[in-house]
Amino acid sequence: MYILGLESSCDETAASVVVNGSKILSSIVASQIDIHRIYGGVVPELASRKHLEAVVPVVEEALDCAGISAEKLDGMAVTQGPGLVGALLVGFCFAKGFAYGLDIPWIGVNHLEGHINSVFLEKDVPEFPFTALLVSGGHTSIYYVTGHTRFELMGQTRDDAAGEAFDKVSKMLGLGYPGGALIGRLAQNGDREKINFPRSFLDKTRFDFSFSGLKTSVSRYIQTNPVLSREQICDIAAGFEEAVVDVLCFKLLGAAQKKQCRHIAVVGGVAANKRLREKIVRQAENKGLQVFIPGTDLCGDNGAMIAAAGYYYLKSGLVSGMDSDVYSRVAL
Ligand code: ATP
Ligand code: MG
Ligand code: FE
Repeated sequence: MYILGLESSCDETAASVVVNGSKILSSIVASQIDIHRIYGGVVPELASRKHLEAVVPVVEEALDCAGISAEKLDGMAVTQGPGLVGALLVGFCFAKGFAYGLDIPWIGVNHLEGHINSVFLEKDVPEFPFTALLVSGGHTSIYYVTGHTRFELMGQTRDDAAGEAFDKVSKMLGLGYPGGALIGRLAQNGDREKINFPRSFLDKTRFDFSFSGLKTSVSRYIQTNPVLSREQICDIAAGFEEAVVDVLCFKLLGAAQKKQCRHIAVVGGVAANKRLREKIVRQAENKGLQVFIPGTDLCGDNGAMIAAAGYYYLKSGLVSGMDSDVYSRVAL
């Protein structure tokens, strides 16, 4: 089944052609970062306008790169939510019209289900059931995953998402937006033990997260050391990153143990973080667990993960109707 996946929930317009939810024929991502960077964050109205400009060329390029014409498509999947309503509407309305014009089935997909299904786009895939850490710009959650479309929420952040904390700390350090990748790079040159930022484990038997205390602690450190050398900035980045990674690893391994899963997955934008990848793999190996993390291209938002998630619904005959609408927030 050839599925076109379309994603426009935030600041990436992305389209991809995926065969049977697993083989990527093309994946095009048009990022708006350069526009939003000036404002230090995503400006919703600007995002919508940029999606509008990008959606047709991005879809055309995805079909071109896949080497197929639109008539070859068996279905279409599009992000329905959560995200910025105006941004979502661009992709969603496009999908309705495009699918109607081609007379093919289409389905609205939850963005978070897309992130989780991104692990199935790699060669080695986890077996059900597995425990997944979804760690991104807007979410930090642990799911017990029993099927491509079946998830049980085990815990989630009570305040900031991990990616959001990365972005805010980057801003505090004057590094710019988006900050996750920048912090990750600087952290590699820092001393991870020099500054011991707090790790908030909350109730150790549960799987909720909190990153606001850590964020405040970094902010206070910066206030008491107003003039920072390059070396100190690297140490702050490293100390902060280590604190986030420690909590993420602890909770994910704890959740896997509770559910007695041998396989675990890490997905979402922050899954691109090098330290997180290294540490979870090492700690999981020590416990005899196998970790599945998509390649860094598939960690951030992309159309392939939406096509992958949509495939399982379309295959079972589920489709969306013309009267369906986008949603900004929803629990998975
Ligand atoms: P959500 O998926 O929750 O709706 P989103 O789609 O905006 O939010 P993603 O695109 O999945 O989020 O991820 C973006 C986040 O990942 C940003 O907060 C960014 O800073 C973070 N990120 C990207 N690369 C890295 C990295 N190497 N280390 C840490 N964080 C990173
Ligand atoms: Mg983004
Ligand atoms: Fe995302």
